[in-house]
Amino acid sequence: MDKTHDSRPELQDTKPSKRETGKLVEPGTYLAGAEEVLPGRGTFSENDEIFAATFGHVASTSKDAIVDSKKRILKIIVGTDVYGIVTNVMDSKALLQIIPLSDDKDARFPPSETAVLKVSSISPSFIRDIRDGIRIGDIVRAKVFSTRDGMEISMRESTEYGVIKAFCSRCRHNMILKSGGRLMCSSCGWMESRKISKFYSLKE
Ligand SMILES: [Zn+2]
Repeated sequence: MDKTHDSRPELQDTKPSKRETGKLVEPGTYLAGAEEVLPGRGTFSENDEIFAATFGHVASTSKDAIVDSKKRILKIIVGTDVYGIVTNVMDSKALLQIIPLSDDKDARFPPSETAVLKVSSISPSFIRDIRDGIRIGDIVRAKVFSTRDGMEISMRESTEYGVIKAFCSRCRHNMILKSGGRLMCSSCGWMESRKISKFYSLKE
């Protein structure tokens, strides 16, 4: 019943959508203006703009913005690559909400799970302060390496793993990856460090 808009082309060309259906998005990804469409399942609106509230595929942006997918449910096991959002940072570990990394359009994402990332699993290099590797709100790419005592993830094995999106600790704007490997706030110019993934989203 969610596909009622697909058969009505007159609704589709009213305004261009920034996000095509089927695209994999992450929480916070801009989907459309609130004057264009209504915020649907898996989305939220803020300042007249609609954003993805979850990891998933864009199911619709023609009338309601919906982030969803169907059918098989993806499983998280040891070795699974995941996306995670950092929800809590302590001295020796961080907590993240993770979902499996997949571009399988026919599979459904399971509810996010809480995972632990220890400071020793952030980077192959020594990190003195955990906040030089990861901060609250960061979006990361990581790998599950244990599920024995709860879900535990690691980012140290590969340059693929690490932070892919970070936000300024001072003003919460996007951080841009500079050529020297540090991050600079796109708004206030504040500099910070992270364990960066080679897939970092905003590069200089
Ligand atoms: Zn800033």
